[in-house]
Amino acid sequence: MIPTPQGLYCPVGDFHIDPHGAVDRAIISHGHSDHARKVAKKYLAHKDSAGILRTRLGKGISLSTLEYGESLTLNGVRVTLFPAGHLLGSSQIRCEYKGNVTVFTGDFGTTKNDTCKPFQPVKCDTFIPESTFGLPLYEWTDPEIVYQEINDWWRQNRDKGLASVLYCYSLGKAQRILKALDTSIAPIIVHDSVDQMNDCYQNAGIDLPQTLTGWDREGKPADAGALEGLCFQIIPTGVDC
Ligand SMILES: [Zn+2]
Repeated sequence: MIPTPQGLYCPVGDFHIDPHGAVDRAIISHGHSDHARKVAKKYLAHKDSAGILRTRLGKGISLSTLEYGESLTLNGVRVTLFPAGHLLGSSQIRCEYKGNVTVFTGDFGTTKNDTCKPFQPVKCDTFIPESTFGLPLYEWTDPEIVYQEINDWWRQNRDKGLASVLYCYSLGKAQRILKALDTSIAPIIVHDSVDQMNDCYQNAGIDLPQTLTGWDREGKPADAGALEGLCFQIIPTGVDC
């Protein structure tokens, strides 16, 4: 693997991983916008990423998919995907050539995540991890405690006659939080961009709570009546990662 202006490149296999410039073949670790860009003639990703990539990059992209543990050989390099525990379809990319193994993770998560397969350690000679929040200064509260705090806050707001609004990434974080919400509290409204990603999850067999859509794609209220309820609204932040 070597760095190039377009991103990480495997010269023997002749493919890039999560490229950010024009390339022939890209292997995509997951659907977040800092990893999946419309720059390649051909894409390879996990099959559960297909809906996300087609929604975000276009229905017409040339996309091949693999199951976890399934392999494809590209110019003698055996490529296999393993779960990264980050979001639906997120994959570590294992590349084997003449017995030497390199693993690229993309973003990965080792805490419990009910919306995707758990991270699976993969034996290798070279490990290339993404570590956006890898510095020791990042110490996160247990997600189960955060979910409890969100539900408690939502319930208290409802009792005061207030709607609750939460901002988060439309892909990954939104579905993880939706899965943890106590749906008995009040109706849930999501932005259209969250709704689109919810469809991808549900099409891949991940159950999510029933939601309403409050905005159209221009950001205008699509159902003013729904907004008057004591609801919980999830609105996307800008770029996800
Ligand atoms: Zn990511």
